[in-house]
Amino acid sequence: MSVLKQFAKVSISHGPTPMEHLPRLSAVLNCNLYIKRDDCTGLAGGGNKTRKLEYLIADAKALNADTLVTVGGIQSNHARQTAAAAAKFGFDCELILEDVEGTPKKSYYQNGNVLLDHLLGANVHRVPEGIESDTFTAGLMASLKAAGKKPYLIPMGGSNEIGSLGYIDCANEIIKQIKEDVLSFDQIILATGSTGTQTGLLAGFIAEDVDIPVLGICVSRPGNEQEQLVQSLLEKTLAMIGLDSTLGHNKVFANGDYYGEGYGISTAQTIEAIKLVASTEGILLDPVYTGKAMAGLIALCRNKSIAPDSTILFIHTGGSQGLFAYQDIFY
Ligand SMILES: *Cc1c(COP(=O)(O)O)cnc(C)c1O
Repeated sequence: MSVLKQFAKVSISHGPTPMEHLPRLSAVLNCNLYIKRDDCTGLAGGGNKTRKLEYLIADAKALNADTLVTVGGIQSNHARQTAAAAAKFGFDCELILEDVEGTPKKSYYQNGNVLLDHLLGANVHRVPEGIESDTFTAGLMASLKAAGKKPYLIPMGGSNEIGSLGYIDCANEIIKQIKEDVLSFDQIILATGSTGTQTGLLAGFIAEDVDIPVLGICVSRPGNEQEQLVQSLLEKTLAMIGLDSTLGHNKVFANGDYYGEGYGISTAQTIEAIKLVASTEGILLDPVYTGKAMAGLIALCRNKSIAPDSTILFIHTGGSQGLFAYQDIFY
């Protein structure tokens, strides 16, 4: 808690989110599995971006911004959550959404998250083909400023040092729940994309001197590349909260064996994982992040990289709204 005191925060999240045992899935996988329900953080469908936005919105308010601008894929959960936070706190919202090659097209452009972006009142821009999203974003920022607005740019996935603070909160919740429920985890597993979630969790554990291995399952790039990105944000985040950035060395682990062809492109194992978790535990994962992460967890249990009877905590980072954009892959 103490490292976070110096940072402004707005209150959005329905925390603490539950930590639940998954007995029926555990029996299938021959391990002892728990889930941290960060799909239940609140704000128009929940997910990990709610926690990041608690700090990002506070920063935007401190800077007297009137417009939130952010970037993502067309089915970005982060964009949907940003649109919801903008509505709740009275900001205008500009979303810059990029097409993702290889995704199913039937509902991708209109259903799922993008439907919700419109309901939440955001201005949706599609990055025109052949233009880099950074170039497009710079142009939009300039024209908003020229029109007298005060735009606040949130990076993709809300993943900078400020957004990562939200997952220091989550680490603190986990530490408390472990104590209360007298649990001990061999490993924490989660999806890792723009890196802020894994970074914040690690920073939170480091700050409290808690040593639980955290494995990110990559959703978009090879493990070594992902590890470097997490490492770099972790060092910046540790420095920002006043800790020695070398404390983050040898703590970052990412597995790039399960992301398939790329971001947003589902794999057969992802579909199997989503169906298995839904049918054993009544929990909805998503096709882009948590389904891939769970596919990794399942494979690691089956090939015994995760020792039988290990106690594992899976972080459910949300995203099930995206299922409706991917209906094609389930029929
Ligand atoms: C954004 C997102 C992630 C990945 O979190 P990062 O902080 O970007 O690594 C995981 N799951 C869901 C559902 C997400 O929307």
